[in-house]
Amino acid sequence: MPLKPLTKILIANRGEIAVRVIRAAREMGIATVAVYSELDRNALHVRLADEAYALGGQTAAESYLNTEAILDAIRKSGADGVHPGYGFFSENADFAEAITQMGVAFIGPPPDAIREMGDKVSSRKAALRGDCPIVPGTTEFVTTAAEIADFGKKFGFPIAIKAAFGGGGRGMKVVRSAEEVQEAMDSAQREAKAFFGRDEIYVEKYLTWPRHVEVQIVGDQHGNYAWVSTRDCSAQRRHQKLVEEAPAVAMGEGIEEAMGEAAIKAARAVGYFNAGTVEFIYQDGEFFFLEMNTRLQVEHPVSEVITGIDLVEWQIRVAGGETLPMTQEQVAARRNGHGIEIRINAENPAGGKFLPSPGKITKLVPSDGFGVRFDSGYESGDEISQYYDNLVGKLIVWGKDRPTAIARTIRALEEMVVEGVATTIPADLAILRHPDFAAMKHSTKWVEEVLDLSGIEAPKAPAGDGDDAEPLVRRNTTVEVNGKRFDVAMWVPEQTAVVASAGAAKASKPKRAAGGGAGGGAGSGQVAVPMQGTIVKVLVEVGQDVEAGQAVVVLEAMKMENQILAEKSGKVSEVKVKAGDTVGSGDVVVVIA
Ligand code: ADP
Ligand code: ADP
Ligand code: MG
Repeated sequence: MPLKPLTKILIANRGEIAVRVIRAAREMGIATVAVYSELDRNALHVRLADEAYALGGQTAAESYLNTEAILDAIRKSGADGVHPGYGFFSENADFAEAITQMGVAFIGPPPDAIREMGDKVSSRKAALRGDCPIVPGTTEFVTTAAEIADFGKKFGFPIAIKAAFGGGGRGMKVVRSAEEVQEAMDSAQREAKAFFGRDEIYVEKYLTWPRHVEVQIVGDQHGNYAWVSTRDCSAQRRHQKLVEEAPAVAMGEGIEEAMGEAAIKAARAVGYFNAGTVEFIYQDGEFFFLEMNTRLQVEHPVSEVITGIDLVEWQIRVAGGETLPMTQEQVAARRNGHGIEIRINAENPAGGKFLPSPGKITKLVPSDGFGVRFDSGYESGDEISQYYDNLVGKLIVWGKDRPTAIARTIRALEEMVVEGVATTIPADLAILRHPDFAAMKHSTKWVEEVLDLSGIEAPKAPAGDGDDAEPLVRRNTTVEVNGKRFDVAMWVPEQTAVVASAGAAKASKPKRAAGGGAGGGAGSGQVAVPMQGTIVKVLVEVGQDVEAGQAVVVLEAMKMENQILAEKSGKVSEVKVKAGDTVGSGDVVVVIA
C-alpha cells in the first residue's frame, strides 16, 4: 500500500476515545467521520465529527462490532484511514487486514504483530526471541499435572496456571502447593473453555507482591522506535486498573531505562509499528514481560502530559508513512514532572463492591485549573448505556513532582460534579489519600487486600427514570438520509420534544421478555438479562424461594459483573442457564412462579 498522509479518518469506536481521536485529527486539519449505534445518534463523538454514519443496532455486536456496517461506512465516507480506538476492533487482525486490502490505512500495528502478541504463549516466545525477559515459566502448553508439580518443585511455589487464550484475569489460577495442582489445573481449563472456547494452559512463577509497570512505545514503518514513558498501574481491582501514573517511580537505578529498552526489543521481535504497550510485572528490582497490548491504551494520556507528545498525532503520522518526529534522546529530554489518571467509571463502590451504575448523567461539571485535563465522551444530559463500557471520563493531572500531582488530583476530584449515576470517585480518593500509595508501598494486590473501602456509602439514589418529568428541549435535531447523519436546526414546540425524549428513553431500556404487564408493581416472573454477556454464576435453584430484588444470576458483560435481580417474590420454577453460557439481550434466565 502506498504511504501517503491521511486526509480523512473514520473512527471505529465511541465514547471518550472517539472524541480524543476526533480532536487530534481536527487539530491536524484532517476530516473526521464518526459511526454510531442507535443509542449514540446524538452522542458527543457524533456531535463533534465532520460526518457521521449510522451502524444500526444497540449492542456492541449489532453496532460497533458489525464488520459489514463499518466497512460500508468506510466506503461511503471515502475515508483513507481508520482509527480503531481501544476495545472493539482494535486488536482484531482480520479487521486490520480487511481494511488494508481496501487500500485504507489501519491506524495501528501490522496484522501479523497483532496475531503474534494475541495469545500469551506465542507472545512469550516472541519476547524471548527479542531478548526481553519473561516471567519464568513454560513457553509451550502443558498437558499433565505432573509437569506442573515438577515446575513448582523446581522454581518454588506459588505458581500460576494460565489460560494461553485467556484475558481479563480469567483462566488464571494460583497454586500454593503440589497437592493443589490437579484441582487448579482442572478449574483453569474449565474456565478457559467456558470463556474463550479453548483450554490450552501454561505455567509461570507467581509473584506475591508485584507492581504492574508498563512501557508506552511507538514505532514507525521504517524501523525506528522510541519508548515514551513508563506507567505504574498497580492500583487495580480484580485486574482492572483504577489509577495510573507516569513515570513509574521508585524502581531503583537504571531499571526504567532497561525496561524501556526491553519493551522495544519485544516490539521489534514482531515487526511492530504504531503505538503499543508492553506490560511487565516488577518486584524486588526485577521485571518480567507479561503481555503486549497492541493498541492505544486507556491510560495513554499520562505519558502525554509528562512529555507534551500527542500520541494520537504520532499514530496518525506513522500510519501515513512518516518517520517518528523525535529520536529517543529527544523524547527522553522532554520527560518532566508526574502524571496521574483517574478512571471515572459509572460504578457504585459502596462497601468495595463496584456495582455497575448505568443511567442518565443529570449533571457533569468537570474540574479544571492548572495541570488538569478531562477526557470524556459525555456531557450533562447524556446517557451511560448499559450496553457499553461504563467509563464516564478520565481525569488526567500533571504536577511538577509526584506529591504535587497527588495533591492536585485530590483537589480536582473534590471539585468534580457527576450526578445521576454513581461513580468510582470515592474509591479513587481513598486510594490517593492513603499513606501506602504516597509511599509507593502498594502492589497489584493492595486495593483488594489492604485498602478498606467498607466505609464508602452508597450515593444518593440516582435521579431515576423520570423521563416524563424532565423533558429535554433541544434546539437542534438530526436527520438520517441514506444512513448518513445531518444536523438540522429546528424549533419544535415543547410538547413534541417531550414525546421524542420519552420515546428515545424507552428504546434504550432493556428489552424485557414477553410476560411483563402485571400491574401493581408485582413485576415479571420472567427474569431476563438486559445485555449480551456470559453467565458467571447461577445463584438460585429450582424450588428455592426468592425475594423481589434478590440477585438470581451474575452476568459478565464488558469486563464487568452485573447482578441480575428478581422483579418479584416467589418460588423459582425454572433455571434456563448455567455458568459459562452466553446469553443475548432479553433472554430469560430464570422463571419465578
Ligand atoms: P488493560 O486494562 O488490559 O490495560 P485498558 O485499560 O487499556 O486495557 O482497557 C482497554 C480494554 O478495555 C479494551 O481492550 C476493551 O476490552 C475494554 N474497554 C474499555 N473501555 C472501552 C470502551 N469504551 N469501548 C470498548 N471497550 C472498552
Ligand atoms: P490479562 O490478559 O488477564 O490482562 P495478565 O497476564 O496481564 O492477563 O495478568 C493480569 C494481572 O494478573 C496482571 O496485571 C497482574 O496483576 C496479575 N498477574 C499476572 N501474572 C502474574 C504473575 N505471574 N505473578 C503475579 N501476578 C500476576
Ligand atoms: Mg494484562
